[in-house]
Amino acid sequence: MTQKLLELQAEARDAVPAANNSADIEELRRHFLGKKGPLTQILRGMGNVTPEERPIVGKIANETRELIEQLLAEQTERVSARESESSFDAERIDVTLPGRALNVGNRHPLTIVLDEICDIFTGLGFEIVEGPEVETDWYNFVALNIPPDHPARDDHASFYITDDVLLRTETSAVQIRTMEQRQPPVRIIAPGRVYRRDAVDRTHCHTFHQVEGLLVDEHVTFADLKGTLDVFAKRMFGERVRTTFRPHYFPFTEPSAEVDISCFLCDQKGCGVCKGSGWIEVLGSGMVHPKVLENVGYDSEKYSGFAFGMGVERLAMLKFGIDDIRLFYENDLRFLRQFR
Ligand SMILES: [Zn+2]
Repeated sequence: MTQKLLELQAEARDAVPAANNSADIEELRRHFLGKKGPLTQILRGMGNVTPEERPIVGKIANETRELIEQLLAEQTERVSARESESSFDAERIDVTLPGRALNVGNRHPLTIVLDEICDIFTGLGFEIVEGPEVETDWYNFVALNIPPDHPARDDHASFYITDDVLLRTETSAVQIRTMEQRQPPVRIIAPGRVYRRDAVDRTHCHTFHQVEGLLVDEHVTFADLKGTLDVFAKRMFGERVRTTFRPHYFPFTEPSAEVDISCFLCDQKGCGVCKGSGWIEVLGSGMVHPKVLENVGYDSEKYSGFAFGMGVERLAMLKFGIDDIRLFYENDLRFLRQFR
């Protein structure tokens, strides 16, 4: 029996230090010290031991239990130290790793230019007014001095919804709506989306954006128009830019002028953008036609005004050197991300 206990001690000395994790240690604890384990079996056989031998065997049995418990305790300590160390390793944060880049959006180039136009005119005292994109024939054409058989309607190939309702071809309708509701002075710009039945190509799209402006008051002259648009051109394209006004025809203004700016790309030496002329057409303008003022109930003898309109896409293409209008609508991030 003494021999068996000594063998058990030897077995424990071999097995316990080899246990690699706390689960294995628990398994060994059950094996050596459990109710069906060898130590329990040996102690149960104590009845067969002679009275002289009993104290000796009892002493060795106690020493064996103490030894096994001590071995298990020591191994538990080693293993748990190792396990917590490896869990630190697993949870360690590597501060040298590159961070995850945040996806920051940016404004659409058309929004950038539209905001800039609005900023310049609000700085000059104009108010921003918006109106419906679906308009009646009256607001889109007739009130703007374009009666049903007027040839100017050919320039505005329109999307009609009914005989009398269409997608607006210009934001000028907002001017009529505003003047109907207010008495002069009126100083507004109307930014917004407009629609024309144009075939899509590099410079045309069926949907585009305009900013139209209107100022009506007493004693407004063509000089006010020229001064206002000259300031706008300089703020938009640079202080060195000069403006020139070419006579033109619009049904809703008289006299009318197209406004060119000196080419800011080539300093008027002649380039592809200005087609060698040194001038770039940027907007249309004129003195509000007396008939338009009368259509909204203004006294055209007392009041006068000027109006102007520009295409946001065209200005954005000039400003950013974009040569294809379709890029604005394709939502290609490689294009859009260049305008931060
Ligand atoms: Zn040029």
